[in-house]
Amino acid sequence: MTKSHEEITLTPISDTPSTMNITGLWRVVKPVVDKEKCKKCTICWKFCPDAAITLVDGEPIVDLRYCKGCGICAFECPSKCIIMVKEGEQ
Ligand code: SF4
Ligand code: SF4
Repeated sequence: MTKSHEEITLTPISDTPSTMNITGLWRVVKPVVDKEKCKKCTICWKFCPDAAITLVDGEPIVDLRYCKGCGICAFECPSKCIIMVKEGEQ
């Protein structure tokens, strides 16, 4: 059965980054958060499969050493305030 955002326990799906494998090296695109539009809803943090997002005062901060550029955070963000940009472009 599919759960709504509110029904998911307040924890990231993955709580351990690939510390033995710097997955950020795989990335060709990276997420950029528009802080002005971010509603601090925590959904991107919950869905990141590599625990690459931490929350600082509710604001998502991406650790690019581990972000593999999958785009799940951008897809799941209900405010559409995460865009994926090519490495070196922004
Ligand atoms: S693109 Fe987003 S969901 Fe994917 S690894 Fe990076 S921060 Fe996590
Ligand atoms: S999902 Fe979008 S609105 Fe929610 S915390 Fe992440 S960036 Fe902000």
